[in-house]
Amino acid sequence: MSDPLERYSRQMVLPGWGREGQERLASKTAVVVGCGALGSHIAAHLARAGVGRLVLADRDFVEWHNLPRQALYDEADAANGVPKAVAAARRLRAINSLVEIEEHVIDVNADTVEGLLAGADMVLDGADNFEVRYLVNEACVKHGIPWVYGGVLGTYGLSAVILPGETPCLRCLLGPMPPPGAVPTCEMAGVLGSVVALVAALEVTEALKLLLDRRDELLGGLVMVDVWSGDFERAQTQKGQAACPVCDEGRYELLDAARGSTTAVLCGRGAVQINPHPAQPVNLKALAARLAGLGEVVVNEYLLRLDVEGRQLTVFPDGRAIVKGTDDPAQARALYARFVGS
Ligand SMILES: [Zn+2]
Repeated sequence: MSDPLERYSRQMVLPGWGREGQERLASKTAVVVGCGALGSHIAAHLARAGVGRLVLADRDFVEWHNLPRQALYDEADAANGVPKAVAAARRLRAINSLVEIEEHVIDVNADTVEGLLAGADMVLDGADNFEVRYLVNEACVKHGIPWVYGGVLGTYGLSAVILPGETPCLRCLLGPMPPPGAVPTCEMAGVLGSVVALVAALEVTEALKLLLDRRDELLGGLVMVDVWSGDFERAQTQKGQAACPVCDEGRYELLDAARGSTTAVLCGRGAVQINPHPAQPVNLKALAARLAGLGEVVVNEYLLRLDVEGRQLTVFPDGRAIVKGTDDPAQARALYARFVGS
């Protein structure tokens, strides 16, 4: 293929796109936060469309129950417990080698989010929880980075573009962050793969308008779709009367929260994440040798997995761990202390 842009011929022919648009896209960086259902669809479309640099972040690994709706992953990824960011990056490089892919197997939190977003032209929401979304909102407002919010549940989905300083931010749109357990999760309410594809398509299309510098063509407002009933609505959004702590007052409560070691129950999954602060790097091979004989151990360059006493402990090189088979933080910490160290 002599002309590297030839592969994009069918989109370059679209009105107002052309080689110039394609070259503009190739000069841009997009960050995808979360590589689950929405994030993997989003990343696939952005890579195929030829966005210059894609930064992927996800804390989790591929599991069998992801496969019905998470593009980019296959049975081998689930069998081997490959981190989603690693599996996604591998697949995306095979799809489009012209795109620079940067993958991060990390928990997106107050410590990591600003470094992750540095240099981004925009951010896309592939997260599965409100804490990460509200944190990304604060970071994007603080640094003036446009971002696209998206969420799915059941057969229903939402999407909105947030332009700091121009549109209402997520805090303006949705109010204070819902407390854990207040909003049903995909584990409780289920989720249909096709609504994921639809909301990802909405997010990606708005992202392309932003990256092509065609802001006047953005949909605007909050888009709500139900792929089963066929309802499709767009509500205009405007800033409320009351001042928003994030985009009016510049108070970044999640971003500025003092950080200690954290333990988070991964909602609805029967799992707990343990995140030591500061990070405590773990030599996975050495740990595997110590654990041999105590339970079933699988180790690769990305993670160590120990099946023991009906629980599954997955440890990452930065010391972070996910304990499956319990939603009790104390039990998870105890298991971590016994087998990894405190
Ligand atoms: Zn706001």
